[in-house]
Parts: sequence; structure tokens; C-alpha cells
Amino acid sequence: MRLVSACLLGIRCAWSGDDKCKNERAIELSRVEPLIPVCPEQSGGLPTPRAPQEIQGGTGEDVLNGKCKVMNKDGEDVTREFVKGAEETLKIAWQLNIKEFIAKSGSPSCGCGQIYDGSFSGRLIDGDGVTTALLRRNGIRIIPEEDL
Ligand code: SF4
Repeated sequence: MRLVSACLLGIRCAWSGDDKCKNERAIELSRVEPLIPVCPEQSGGLPTPRAPQEIQGGTGEDVLNGKCKVMNKDGEDVTREFVKGAEETLKIAWQLNIKEFIAKSGSPSCGCGQIYDGSFSGRLIDGDGVTTALLRRNGIRIIPEEDL
């Protein structure tokens, strides 16, 4: 059993409220093995649709360490919701004894390896999203969607 970013399965939980993040390989995989869909941004209490959000001046690790924030494009601080969503996702992993997470690329929550730089201009920097950072910190293996 593995966790998967819910939007990869075509669930309309992305900020835009559509299913543009769906990944056919993840959907195929869900037909042959149990994948548990999680959306940390919704679990953290954010609505759908919602304004786009990016980590400002750092990575998910930095957010967890209290060194930077997550802001939405309207200028609202959504750091608390992001950290709560990460913690709720980790709780699901612990409760179900899940050791792997299939992660949506680029997201400030689920991104792994690269995330947007906070300028809302499409520029990428090295680093994980907040949930991916917390799961990785707790020994959960992260599988980028590209590796499916
Ligand atoms: Fe997808 Fe994760 Fe963003 Fe939810 S938080 S929409 S699962 S990338």
C-alpha cells in the first residue's frame, strides 16, 4: 500500500479545481495495487478552488524549520494550513503503516526535488514541498511521478 497525491488520480483537488494534474500511469497503477489518495492542502483546511501558492524564499524543509512561509498569490499567509496538511498526511501514513509516497511534481506541498521559487513566474529551484519534506524526514520513501 502506498500514498499518492490525490490529484495524480484525477481527483479535482488542485488549486484550479480541475483535473489537469492527472497522471495516466498513476491511474493505471491504482487499478492493480491499493493507492491511498491524499491532498495535504485540503487536509490542512484550504478550499478548492483556491489561489495558487508558493513557498517564499526557501523549501519545504525551511518551512518546517520556521525559516520561511508559504504565501498565496493574493498575499495571504497559508503556512499554518500547509504544515497542518503535512502533519495530517504523516498521520495517515503512520496509521496505515505506509512507507512510500508517490508525489506530484512542482507542488509546494507534494513536490519532490524541485519546487517553484515563490515568484509565481514558473521558475524552479531545488527542494521539496512541505508535505514531502515531512514525510522524507520521517523515513518515508518519496517516488516522483516521473518515475512511475
Ligand atoms: Fe495535488 Fe498535493 Fe496539491 Fe493536493 S496538495 S492538489 S495532492 S499536489
